[in-house]
Amino acid sequence: MEAISKRFFLQLSNSSVMDRLAKKWGPKFGANNIVGGETFEEAVPVIQEMNRQGLDITVDHLGEFVSSESEARQRAKECIHSIQTISGNQLNSQVSVKLTSLGLDIRHELVWENMISIMDEAQKHDVVVTIDMEDSTRTEKTLEIYKALKKRYENIGTVIQSYLYRSSEDLDDLDSYKPYLRLVKGAYKEPGKVAFVEKSDVDDNLKHLIEKNLLNGHYTAIASHDDAMIEFTKKFAVENNIPREQFEFQMLYGMRNDTQLALLKEGYKVRVYLPYGDDWYGYFMRRLAERPANVSFAIKGLFKK
Ligand SMILES: Cc1cc2nc3c(=O)[nH]c(=O)nc-3n(C[C@H](O)[C@H](O)[C@H](O)COP(=O)(O)OP(=O)(O)OC[C@H]3O[C@@H](n4cnc5c(N)ncnc54)[C@H](O)[C@@H]3O)c2cc1C
Repeated sequence: MEAISKRFFLQLSNSSVMDRLAKKWGPKFGANNIVGGETFEEAVPVIQEMNRQGLDITVDHLGEFVSSESEARQRAKECIHSIQTISGNQLNSQVSVKLTSLGLDIRHELVWENMISIMDEAQKHDVVVTIDMEDSTRTEKTLEIYKALKKRYENIGTVIQSYLYRSSEDLDDLDSYKPYLRLVKGAYKEPGKVAFVEKSDVDDNLKHLIEKNLLNGHYTAIASHDDAMIEFTKKFAVENNIPREQFEFQMLYGMRNDTQLALLKEGYKVRVYLPYGDDWYGYFMRRLAERPANVSFAIKGLFKK
């Protein structure tokens, strides 16, 4: 049953008709529980309130797979605008970007120019930018761009997914770059040729990557809602004298709020990934695919204004 609903929501996430309708509707059907607003300005008070509670943020302007150069440049401008607004309002927030939204599938020079203009602004305002990891057909290109940018800018991070067989080797390859990494299980539908099929293998590999990156001495964001991963990290850090300043936990906005606050209270750093924008549909469907239990709050959202 769970496998069927996962497939169902992943298929829906790719429906362009539904996507167009969703933009017309605005974030309803529960999406407003996991999206910070349709514009960055709407998200600012949400960030301020979370900062007040002690939570750090990374914002993500929703949207991926743009097909025109002008759209990709527009997306880069929006990202620069969010960096300037973070700085102007002294928000405690980083920025997350998806390379497909900046032209990765169109032209290498386009995505590179867009990233350079974003990184110049981010460096000026001392804001960290993390490149989200998308599906496995883009992993290699994404890591190449990350490495080239890391040679020029300190304030840049990326993501490694534990469902991919290649990820442990990617950590070895990145070691000399002193990377800032977010470790996740992975959110896309991947073939068995490149990714573990069994969930237990994905979980074991995430533990392995956490150990490896922490022991390599690099800053590590453990992005998971899974208590087993959180407890594993805490124990491993104590047993191996890893200082708390070397890692943080990350969770998505609207998920496990109580756990986020409990970790803060215990003295851990917690960062919340806050998506905003009118392109919320695909993101929302992927979250439903990951955890069909989220359907219950989607249904509750139907009755909310
Ligand atoms: C901050 C952040 C950034 C991310 N960035 C990327 C990225 O760039 N690329 C990418 O591919 N993926 C990304 N992901 C998604 C990630 O890859 C996983 O798909 C997603 O986090 C689900 O895996 P999980 O480890 O949270 O828990 P799962 O493996 O889905 O669940 C394990 C257990 O955790 C508990 N749990 C999970 N979710 C909840 C919940 N909402 N409420 C209560 N309990 C829950 C349950 O006990 C569940 O059985 C990101 C995730 C986060 C949190």
